[in-house]
Amino acid sequence: MPTTQALLVIDYTNDFVADQGALTCGQPGQQLAPAIVSLAEQMRSNGDWVLLPTDVHTPNDPYHPESQLFPPHNVRDSWGRELYGPLKDWYNDHQTETTVWQFDKTRYSSFAGTDLDLRLRERHVDSLHLVGVCTDICVLHTAVDAYNLGYQLVIHENAVASFDPVGHAWALRHFKNTLGATIV
Ligand code: ZN
Repeated sequence: MPTTQALLVIDYTNDFVADQGALTCGQPGQQLAPAIVSLAEQMRSNGDWVLLPTDVHTPNDPYHPESQLFPPHNVRDSWGRELYGPLKDWYNDHQTETTVWQFDKTRYSSFAGTDLDLRLRERHVDSLHLVGVCTDICVLHTAVDAYNLGYQLVIHENAVASFDPVGHAWALRHFKNTLGATIV
């Protein structure tokens, strides 16, 4: 039987998490590392898909809307775009496995302009577990698209974070009350 679950580890990179990151969530983001790595390992060893949608940008791209909103971040081949801390080690150990893959995204949603939906449908995945950052930006936009495409959602409260505690709390309510997500 093919697996029907996938874990999406969203934007858990130095720029979004580390102290020196360009758009860091800081301590709330850093403290997620053990829970994220533990869940990735649990799902990998269970035969589930572990996907790592990762923002990628060209600095000061005049056509990209985020150039007006945020400083340069997650620039291709930069330190800022590397996975943070122990997740980097975990990914290095497992990146050649069929069920583990990292892919580029250029917008908040992991579905925008990517082949994620096609890949999930090919694999008969109907349930998505979301972790990473930021709860109220890239996790939120990914969850909204997933909801509209008909996926069941599980949000791991101890494995999502934001630089904005009000936005974080609002997004958790929105996942549950508006997107029908299970919060665990
Ligand atoms: Zn971005």
